[in-house]
Amino acid sequence: MKLAVPTETRPGERRVAMVPEVVGRLPGVEVAVQAGAGRAAHFGDDAYQERGASVVGDLAALLEGAEVVAKVQPPTPEELASWPEGLTLVSFLAPLAQPEVVQALADRRATVFSLDLLPRISRAQAMDALSSQATVAGYRAALAAAELLPKFFPLLMTAAGTVPPAKVLVIGAGVAGLQAIATARRLGAQVRAYDVRAAAKEEVQSLGATFVELPLETQEGAGGYARAQSEEFLTRQRELLAKEVAAADVVLTTAAVPGRRAPVLVTRSMVQQMAPGSVVVDLAADSGGNCEVTQAGQDVEVGEVVVRGLSNPPSGMPTHASFLYARNVANFLALLVRDGQLAPDFGDEIVNSTCVVRQGEVLHGPTREALG
Ligand code: NAD
Repeated sequence: MKLAVPTETRPGERRVAMVPEVVGRLPGVEVAVQAGAGRAAHFGDDAYQERGASVVGDLAALLEGAEVVAKVQPPTPEELASWPEGLTLVSFLAPLAQPEVVQALADRRATVFSLDLLPRISRAQAMDALSSQATVAGYRAALAAAELLPKFFPLLMTAAGTVPPAKVLVIGAGVAGLQAIATARRLGAQVRAYDVRAAAKEEVQSLGATFVELPLETQEGAGGYARAQSEEFLTRQRELLAKEVAAADVVLTTAAVPGRRAPVLVTRSMVQQMAPGSVVVDLAADSGGNCEVTQAGQDVEVGEVVVRGLSNPPSGMPTHASFLYARNVANFLALLVRDGQLAPDFGDEIVNSTCVVRQGEVLHGPTREALG
């Protein structure tokens, strides 16, 4: 079976779906990589060739004879122009955000597996690309905040005097939030964290942070995720969080509800209550932002407070983000390939839940509805 790995072409995307080290871990799979595909993540063509991959310059030639394509981002219309019919794609797709891409793939009779639909079950952990990339995002968010803050993160006792530790508030303690907490703690900050799921409390505390208890009902939804919250709930939550936000030097927000716009948890007036020099880093910027003033990919100043809207943070650390993603892809491919032949078992829960399109038929119910 031939696996093709094209260069990512979406603006700002520096990751690649396969790295040289993982090429050698795909028994029975012939890997072809587009020339320069790993360059932005610092994986040279030579490194792929040394691990047995072939390197092909042109996308159409790369896809010729391929059965599976591994990507990070969904293909663009320009890329799809070179796509033959009947390919199988493994990628992030966010099918509800871009149903027209799903339709274009269906028109090419493709079979499409969207890694962002992976069930969060133990057996799927090694393929969980959402988690691996969220880990990178959380780490990057804490470092961005430490760099922006005009203060130290750690407690410092120096001959010139004692500096108190920075106070960091993390809102949303999922995979990214927990990594942000761990990173801020490693840098010596005092960390408080809040989440609407009750299970988050123990995880926050296990990292040495303080869990912020609010007198609100918890909001557990299906599959371990938070459920969508009412505007009334969010208004009350903002009122209760205002004091916490005002007391923090750094607010890191990561709150998300699958398939929805990110909830607004920090308003402009809450930012205005923060001390001069404070920092907000919003990891939900690409899905609308948890802060009212967030602009994806930009720093917005509200008085003397900076609000950074991190856009695609895993792409900012492309070497390890790609390394982890490639491992996830390889582990997922093991479910699709048997004895070197492409033979997905659609009875398998993981294969079934991630399959958005099968040989041109859109199977993912919400996407089918969105396409009308
Ligand atoms: P996510 O990216 O969908 O959301 C991030 C966090 O935001 C979540 O913790 C969510 O509860 C929180 N949130 C939503 N609305 C909020 C609000 N109004 N205020 C504060 N917080 C809010 O979540 P994720 O990081 O992908 O993780 C989802 C769940 O899946 C978690 O429970 C995680 O522990 C679990 N998980 C399990 C596995 C596994 O076993 N196999 C792997 C990965 C994640």
